[in-house]
Amino acid sequence: MACCPCCRSKNVIRHGFAERWIQTVPFGFKPVWLVVPVQRVGCRNCGAVRLIDIQMAEPRRWRIKAFERYASP
Ligand SMILES: [Zn+2]
Repeated sequence: MACCPCCRSKNVIRHGFAERWIQTVPFGFKPVWLVVPVQRVGCRNCGAVRLIDIQMAEPRRWRIKAFERYASP
């Protein structure tokens, strides 16, 4: 479970997800973007609202945008 990156409190509430786009090495001539989900949490302890990178926790949610075009008809 996520915890606050500021005060390490586990007393956080979820604010849904955002997406972080990371450009990687090109695939052919097309730029390749990794779309990595990040979770938004609000801390009840210190009031901070932060994005928490969960790419290590949920690697299956990764998508590779350029690759999807080749995979889908
Ligand atoms: Zn906090």
